[in-house]
Amino acid sequence: MIKQQVPGYFRIQLGDYEITALYDGFTAGTTDSYYGSDAESITNIWKTNYTNTTMIDGRLNIKVDSNTYLINTGQDVTLIDTGSGNVLGPNMGSMLTNLKASGYEPEDVDQILLTHAHPDHINGLVIDNQMTFPNATVYLKKTDYDFWVNIIPNLKDLLAPYMAKNQCILFDSNDAISAGITPVALPGHTMGHTGYQVESQGQKLFVWGDVLHDPDVQLTDLDIEIVLGKFDEKRVNTEISTAKRAVEQVVDDQELIAGAHLPFPGIGHIVKNQNTPGYRFIPVHYNPCN
Ligand SMILES: [Zn+2]
Repeated sequence: MIKQQVPGYFRIQLGDYEITALYDGFTAGTTDSYYGSDAESITNIWKTNYTNTTMIDGRLNIKVDSNTYLINTGQDVTLIDTGSGNVLGPNMGSMLTNLKASGYEPEDVDQILLTHAHPDHINGLVIDNQMTFPNATVYLKKTDYDFWVNIIPNLKDLLAPYMAKNQCILFDSNDAISAGITPVALPGHTMGHTGYQVESQGQKLFVWGDVLHDPDVQLTDLDIEIVLGKFDEKRVNTEISTAKRAVEQVVDDQELIAGAHLPFPGIGHIVKNQNTPGYRFIPVHYNPCN
């Protein structure tokens, strides 16, 4: 037996653009982090849906995947989020290995669009004190930077080498960042949390960051939220209303989504259930790229 998983990348074509999902790893979480439901109901949903779970210290934990997305437009290469670098333990941090396995080098990346400033999305910017992506300009919503810069101890350090080379832009507006890639404000998970609308030849992909962490539970009832860190009712309520709005929009528009924490590769559609409340996630199929 080989006892090693195949490389964690998955590719789709979107119009003229090539999209590559890159797996960074997974984090585990118990029912304690859920707001708006109880442990028994959540465990039942996990069992009914064959949710990806594991036992840790005698308790059932969900395994929440972490994905990043590489977009090659033919003109330039954009990476949405950078993974966790090497600071979040052995289950995380494989994004760079998977980027290389997928046929790219870190030097190929021209721009990095961050969805928000949480460690699992930004720590890949600098690994062992070296800029991971020496040719990339980093984009982060200014609101998110301003909020987190005094809370996340290494945020300044991660951006410093990019800032020193004039390769960091803290942006305010929702104007297109480059051809076919436009930021969309999705406040709640963090107040500057941002998705990116990607469009080529009329085909659309909405890379929506952390809108959902547990699609099996949350699509059953969008009033349920996973709360990470300090509980702030106002922020959580904003997060819930943003999730409702985003889900309704992609259902109505029949739009493909890519989620940082949806089961890898995290790309698919959401449809409304016919006979029961709620929605469900339908992953994309594996296809040749041509
Ligand atoms: Zn996240």
